[in-house]
Amino acid sequence: MHLRPADRLGIQRVIAPKGVLPQQAESLDPSLPIAEDEVLIEVESLNIDSASFHQISQACEGDLARIEKHIIDLVSRRGKQHNPVTGSGGMLIGKVKQLGPGFPLQEKPLQVGDRVATLVSLSLTPLVIRKILKIHPKTDRVDIEGHAILFASGLFARLPADLSDTVSLAVLDVAGAPAQTRTLVQAGQIVVVVGGGGKSGILCLYEAKRKYGVTTVAIDYSDSAIERLRSLSFVDHVIQADARDGVDIMNRVLAATGGQLADVVINVANIPETEMSCILCCRQKGIVYFFSMATSFTRAALGAEGVGADVDLRIGNGYTEGHADLALNLIRESPELLRLFTETYS
Ligand code: NAP
Repeated sequence: MHLRPADRLGIQRVIAPKGVLPQQAESLDPSLPIAEDEVLIEVESLNIDSASFHQISQACEGDLARIEKHIIDLVSRRGKQHNPVTGSGGMLIGKVKQLGPGFPLQEKPLQVGDRVATLVSLSLTPLVIRKILKIHPKTDRVDIEGHAILFASGLFARLPADLSDTVSLAVLDVAGAPAQTRTLVQAGQIVVVVGGGGKSGILCLYEAKRKYGVTTVAIDYSDSAIERLRSLSFVDHVIQADARDGVDIMNRVLAATGGQLADVVINVANIPETEMSCILCCRQKGIVYFFSMATSFTRAALGAEGVGADVDLRIGNGYTEGHADLALNLIRESPELLRLFTETYS
């Protein structure tokens, strides 16, 4: 079959507005054939970004039939699973069906038949959904029949043989968070994780606690998340509170730590308006790391200024070199994490 010309960044796939990158585009052309340097993936499951799934689920009042229609309509309109409200996507797993002859195999070894998880966002991945097979609302996962295109610039991980797909999918989706935690947290620090009972929160708490003398504080909302957190050996303090209430969170952190604020605050909540609780419970010159896709740059920057907080505000890049292996290895080394992720996400 005649292939499209090579295009490392996938710009030829952009329908509108012309000339922008696929992530910025309103709509993409996900049709076949692939380009000389693209990979065709037969998709098995989408792992919709938690902030995005939460927003879609709320808009559809939790009704699975409406969520299904919403996702089908969105993907056929945009040619990608790119939520216009949250701006976020997610990632997918599937099997390599075709490899363009110009795909950089030396740099990124891959074979037809390999099962992979994409590590670039669905917000830039050309996608066709032929059929939705099942929606798993508790894990933000959607099993589908369809295909996706990976550009030559795209990142992926081969699915490991020693872990279940569902655990790998849950971990790889948020692999950037524990990887950044390893860099940000120093021995002896106080680390607060807002939204700590979710996937990335638990990985960040575990990773933070690996450093000598770190005190971990987890904040979450629902009874189930709190129960989960209380069962974990690497979480020192568990606070049940609404992360949208900044002053309450600050006071609760002060009470838990004997009057100290955090050196590092990690925001992994999946809802908007949690910026101020993070800023208020961080000490002067500390670090607030916003991994949450529901974060508003404006609210964080102006909010910090408004309360005179001289804190280092960091954007949570989903990618850090080696992040996939780092995150999967945490699960491999900790029976506690493996059990929790298997029970929660299978
Ligand atoms: P998750 O498993 O759904 O965890 C989110 C947690 O936030 C849940 O435990 C949830 O608790 C908690 N939460 C919700 N409302 C709260 C409130 N009012 N107060 C305190 N906690 C609250 O999500 P995840 O997959 O770990 O993802 C976390 C965030 O990272 C999301 O915003 C996601 O979009 C983002 N993300 C970013 C990247 C990136 O590249 N930067 C990549 C992937 C994901 P309940 O159980 O009580 O609802």
